[in-house]
Amino acid sequence: MTIAGLMQDSDLMISSLISYAAQYHGAMEIVTRSVEGPIHRTTYAKAERRSRRLANVLINQFGIRQGDRVGTLAWTTYRHFELFFGVSGMGAVLHTTNPRLFDDQISYIINHAEDRVLFIDLDFVPMVEKLLPELERIEKFIILTDRDHMPETSLPDVLCYEELLAAEGDHYDWPVFDERAASSLCYTSGTTGNPKGVLYSHRSTIIHALGAAQNSAYGLSIYDTIMPIAPMYHANAWGLPYIAAMLGAKLVLPGPKMDGESIQNLIEAEGVTFSCAVPTIFSMLFQYLEDSGRKVESLKRTMIGGSAVPKAMTEKFLKTYGVTVLQLWGMTETSPLGVVACSTPQVDALPPTEREEVMDKQGRVQFGLEIKVLDEGGKPVARDGVAYGDLWVRGPWVSAGYYKSEGGKVLDKEGWFPTGDVVTIDQYGYMKITDRSKDVIKSGGEWISSIDIENLAVGHPKVLQAGVVGVFHPKWEERPILVIKPAPGQSPSPQEILDFLKGKIAKWWMPDRVFIVDEIPLTATGKIKKIALREQYKDCLSE
Ligand code: ADP
Repeated sequence: MTIAGLMQDSDLMISSLISYAAQYHGAMEIVTRSVEGPIHRTTYAKAERRSRRLANVLINQFGIRQGDRVGTLAWTTYRHFELFFGVSGMGAVLHTTNPRLFDDQISYIINHAEDRVLFIDLDFVPMVEKLLPELERIEKFIILTDRDHMPETSLPDVLCYEELLAAEGDHYDWPVFDERAASSLCYTSGTTGNPKGVLYSHRSTIIHALGAAQNSAYGLSIYDTIMPIAPMYHANAWGLPYIAAMLGAKLVLPGPKMDGESIQNLIEAEGVTFSCAVPTIFSMLFQYLEDSGRKVESLKRTMIGGSAVPKAMTEKFLKTYGVTVLQLWGMTETSPLGVVACSTPQVDALPPTEREEVMDKQGRVQFGLEIKVLDEGGKPVARDGVAYGDLWVRGPWVSAGYYKSEGGKVLDKEGWFPTGDVVTIDQYGYMKITDRSKDVIKSGGEWISSIDIENLAVGHPKVLQAGVVGVFHPKWEERPILVIKPAPGQSPSPQEILDFLKGKIAKWWMPDRVFIVDEIPLTATGKIKKIALREQYKDCLSE
């Protein structure tokens, strides 16, 4: 029998992060490229005061109660940062909506979440006007700007964020309640079916922040200047607003501008040392750096995830710009930290090419999360880097189910979450994604990794993006085809690309056709939309 420990038992509250930052690092800056245009500077102390005002606005002016959903359609800015703490801090649920979703998905999730009020950045006002007939439940629309920038709008009950804050005092004591209470809600893109809501709690958010900040994970401290380019509506900017507050580190927020020039300018001007985004953002940054001859000298490390990081990108970052890439695999459902490609003494001791091969994988698990890889028969696969199977995860920052039980029961009997990814795991514990299970290509009963071919193809200097999908083949069931978006000003021939792949992959992995196109369809989170490619090219090998 165990006996109870005699330690204090305090609930883990999101408000404690901003209170800590305000109290112990109050003068540390939060810098934003504002939606209105100019660079805006504030501090943790001011942001915390304004978050308290915001809590007063929610309670006194809107009658928001704990558990109510408060929606946002907003970029990564200091005002959204205040919403992160003001809304969750008072016990309501912050629902960040991805504005890049299709219109009908946006109205679907705002209605599904039953948001009572909606905070909107200036850029999204026209979109909300268009969606208005669908948004029956929203009681108030608040535009995230000051009086001078308030737009003409047909929205009813529209209010100005700065006026609301100015009308309230900043006295407010952050309440303490059950740490398991919901804090924020983020819908997955729903590449199949409707988007599903992942409902984070105060407890999961804080434990994720502690876990992710570990030296062997994001490896962050107060000496970093952190710029999340991954937006606040995408798994809470990968947890970085919370982590930055927890550390008291300087935070740089890129607002609506994520083009190469704007990002480079902010990195240099603010001395950003650490950033994070999906690979497409960094392709745009590279383009600008190459055209302008400019550098990103302060940047030491960047985390890249959301889709596989091409080897060519990791190499260019390190060799040309002196930036170490930290690959992250994660999902909205994992808050999002899953695995990170950090080194270990054992891997550092490997011969350079072997080490490189290991470090190019998605990464290894850190304390706080468990993973298992099972074959089709439900048996654990060998840890040899070759055998592959379905990836399952478990831990205090992994989703236990979707909001309003959409999709039914998701966990297995022992509480493991099925990720839908197919992976290998090697003797050092590094996991490599070969595909999403629904994207796996099965040719003549053998398996082909679309991700491996894509990563090689984008290593060709004339290629900007590459998507590989399996399409119907009369003899082999499925064969891979490759769709290429060329780098600006380039027009590679299909044969050139095939020659480039030759010798780098098994012969039977070679794509049957290569298509050169102007645009590859992307999802709302900037990933290649495989469903659309499969549909478009489904008959191309049937003739
Ligand atoms: P969405 O489908 O809405 O974009 P997520 O951001 O939650 O949702 O996507 C999670 C998925 O993204 C993972 O299951 C995996 O397939 C893919 N993914 C994330 N990180 C990586 C990575 N480093 N390499 C390859 N795939 C990744």
